[in-house]
Order: sequence, then structure tokens, then C-alpha cells
Amino acid sequence: MKSVLFSRFFILLPWILIVIIMLDVDTRRPAPSLTPRPYFSPYVAGRGGARLPLRRGSPDSGPGRGAQKRNQSGPQPPPQPEPPLPTIYAITPTYSRPVQKAELTRLANTFRQVAQLHWILVEDAAARSELVSRFLARAGLPSTHLHVPTPRRYKRPGLPRATEQRNAGLAWLRQRHQHQRAQPGVLFFADDDNTYSLELFQEMRTTRKVSVWPVGLVGGRRYERPLVENGKVVGWYTGWRADRPFAIDMAGFAVSLQVILSNPKAVFKRHGSQPGMQESDFLKQITTVEELEPKANNCTKVLVWHTRTEKVNLANEPKYHLDTVKIEV
Ligand code: UDP
Ligand code: MN
Repeated sequence: MKSVLFSRFFILLPWILIVIIMLDVDTRRPAPSLTPRPYFSPYVAGRGGARLPLRRGSPDSGPGRGAQKRNQSGPQPPPQPEPPLPTIYAITPTYSRPVQKAELTRLANTFRQVAQLHWILVEDAAARSELVSRFLARAGLPSTHLHVPTPRRYKRPGLPRATEQRNAGLAWLRQRHQHQRAQPGVLFFADDDNTYSLELFQEMRTTRKVSVWPVGLVGGRRYERPLVENGKVVGWYTGWRADRPFAIDMAGFAVSLQVILSNPKAVFKRHGSQPGMQESDFLKQITTVEELEPKANNCTKVLVWHTRTEKVNLANEPKYHLDTVKIEV
């Protein structure tokens, strides 16, 4: 009896081993994917996925490229050098007020999720404030901290805001790139109180000259937008002065670095510029309506909102019996 069992065991043993080895080899091979892999464009920097590192180092460490590498199996042709990811330069004018740090915190939380973004923060002040300096140092973002005060005579209701600050940002950009061949880059004006979706940055990253898109909660309407026919801007859906050549809010366009550099005189003007005309007066200097590149699904999606923060109520701030510690807010 025993010898029969032994002989059966030894007959089966090689077969069992073969099955175990085959199973092991199979689990080491990556399983073929059932669904098509998403296409990771370098211009979206892997924004399509949910599992994304918070900060990226060099352009070629983008998660999109990693995903492409993992996707390879078998012999592959040598990797093509990929075009560098255009840097997004965000120019943000900002001024001291009780909500300033809250606004900048929200903005930094958004920007930190965008690959290859350089934040140009321009304080409306005679000097860099400690609050903003400390904030930027801890923000974990590539940034440049500038300042320029708005002359007192221009600090009046009804006059355009942040003209000098946006121009200071433009001057810095031009100076920084004056000696080298322009790296791919895109500039946009990011006021500190607006709300920006991450999708907006994917859209603007592919700007060739000047791109445009709708803006929510602006101009006394739920949204304003460029009207598009056959892929071209043909007019403006706006509740205010539709006769403006570019009836668009500051948050509704981006400009390539190349266009900024090849139009060195294009700036925001104080003289002869009313509030609400600043955008139009600036864009007139660098482009034409025919040239505009519509983004956000032919300007049918709102990806940025012209939100405005309520003035805070500080009626109960004490004049005497102050708190025993000094706290930055
Ligand atoms: N701003 C500034 N100095 C000022 C007023 C505004 O630098 O005296 C900045 C502000 O922080 C914001 C941008 O300019 O980034 C636009 O200002 P605001 O949001 O008040 O304008 P609105 O939304 O009403 O057009
Ligand atoms: Mn605003």
C-alpha cells in the first residue's frame, strides 16, 4: 500500500512542479490591459491621473513620462527627446488687507498642483512685506517676489487697479529672458481673489500666441465668453460694452512668452484707459481677434470664476485689552 502511494507521488511530483513554475512566471509578467491607456500629453503634465506627486522637479520628471515608461514592454525604439513642458508664469498683483493671507493661501494651494508653474507675486507696496515674504518662503512654489506701489493719485474708486504691478511682472519676464532664446512659456494674469480650476492650466499650457476662454461670475452675468464659429472668435457674449475690441476679463486669456518678448512695448496703460478697458487696450497691442485661440471646448466651459471676497467685519476688534500674543492672520 505504502509503496503504491510513494510511486504515485513521485509520478505526480514533476507535473506539480511544472504547474507551480508556470503559474509563477505568469504572475511576474504584467497583465495585458483591458482598457486603452490614457494618452499623457507632455502639455498636460500627467494631470489626467488622480495619483500625482505634489511637486515636480525638472520637466522630465513629470508623472506622464513615468506612465509611458511603465507602459513599455518588449524592444522599443530609442526614446525620442520630448519637447520641454512650457512654463506657466502667473502674475498676481496683491495688496495688504485683512483677507490677504487667506487669498494667497487658496491660490498657492491651487498652484501647487500645477506642474512647471512660476508664480510672480507683485505686492502693491513700497517694500516687500514680511507677511508675504514669509508666506512665499513656505509656499513650496517656484516664485519671484516683486513690489511696486500704486501712486496715491491712482488709488481711487473708478480707476483701474494693479496696472503698475502687472507691468512690473511683465518687465521681470522680459528682463529674465532677454539674453537667451525664449524657452516655451505661457503668461497669464491671476488676481489673488479669483477661483481657478486645474483644467484651466491644461488648457492654457498649449497657447501658441494668445488664447481665450469664458470667465464665470463677471460683468453682471453668470459668465462672459468669446463667441466661436468654425474654431475662430467672432464676437463676445458680454453684458457690458460689447463694443470693446476684446470684451474679456483679465482672467480670460493667456499669452505665450514668445509674444510677450516680441512685443517689448506692450504694457498696461494708465493714461486713456478706463477700468474694464485695460484688457482690451493690452491685447490690442499684441494680437488681433482673428488670431485668438479659443480654449475650453470652443469657449463653452467655465474653468475660472471672477469671485470676490466679502469685506470682513472687524467691528469687534479691540482697541484696548489686546490679546497677549501677536498673531499673524
Ligand atoms: N490689487 C492691488 N492693489 C489695489 C487693489 C487691487 O494690487 O489697490 C490687486 C488685487 O489683489 C487683485 C487685483 O489687483 O489681485 C484685482 O483687484 P480686485 O480683485 O480688487 O479687482 P476686481 O476683482 O474688482 O476687478
Ligand atoms: Mn477680484
